Amino acid sequence: MIRGVVGAMALGLLVWVSPAAAQASVEGTGDQVRISYVEPKNPAHRPIYERLQKRRVLEDLRDFLSPLKLPQPLTIKIEGCGVVNAYYSSGAVTICYEYVAWLHQIAAKITLSNEISLEDAVVGPFVDVLLHEVAHAIFDLLKIPLFGREEDAADQLAAFILLQFGNDVARRTIVGTALLFRQMAEDQQPGSADYAAAHGLPAQRFYNVLCIAYGAQPKLFADYVKQGFLPVFRIGSCRWEYQQILHAFKTLIAPHVDPALQAKVQGREWLPAGGK
Ligand SMILES: [Zn+2]
Repeated sequence: MIRGVVGAMALGLLVWVSPAAAQASVEGTGDQVRISYVEPKNPAHRPIYERLQKRRVLEDLRDFLSPLKLPQPLTIKIEGCGVVNAYYSSGAVTICYEYVAWLHQIAAKITLSNEISLEDAVVGPFVDVLLHEVAHAIFDLLKIPLFGREEDAADQLAAFILLQFGNDVARRTIVGTALLFRQMAEDQQPGSADYAAAHGLPAQRFYNVLCIAYGAQPKLFADYVKQGFLPVFRIGSCRWEYQQILHAFKTLIAPHVDPALQAKVQGREWLPAGGK
């Protein structure tokens, strides 16, 4: 199913889809995922609003999700919140303009100390946060049972989806996501509120996403292990951690995916190279 969603994250910074791919746009039922670009009240957010609309980010996400059979409509919107946030609540995913603006700011810092383009430093985390919130929606609407913290499960499902793309897309989005968490960890002096939070610490989320990626594709992410990003003592369990997520997906979520629409989605190019 979820192959292809990455395209939605292009955030208007990348060359989105090739002309041929655009013609192959997926035709879903169109009524189970409702999208909305809410006009921003803050004038500073208008360029983001216009760019995301121009690049049809939410339309692509809706196409990407079309194989998923949901029992009720899911709304996905981008709007001003007054705070940096992205969240799921009562059938609606909300990505705040403030979150996108923050992502651009932190991406600029990431590119200073890493060999990654500004585009990939934004696109990877943007795709990841969208999928993380959609994962919360899937858990809620499909009544998916979970052991462990839901925030960890949402991170796992988002990473799993990113890894179902070709090597180039998987690599760019996972690395971009990991580097965001690492930058957040470097900027953070954790206190009791952070330890008590529902989310893992950014440093933990950094290691977790790399471990899942290495467990899925050891060769593709071998250089990150060699560089010492992932400690040797953790590496041994990564394959099993990925297998556990794969088993959960096949058992709990795959039965809710339409195979014919999945094939259409998988046949579409979502994040072509060349936008780097
Ligand atoms: Zn969450």
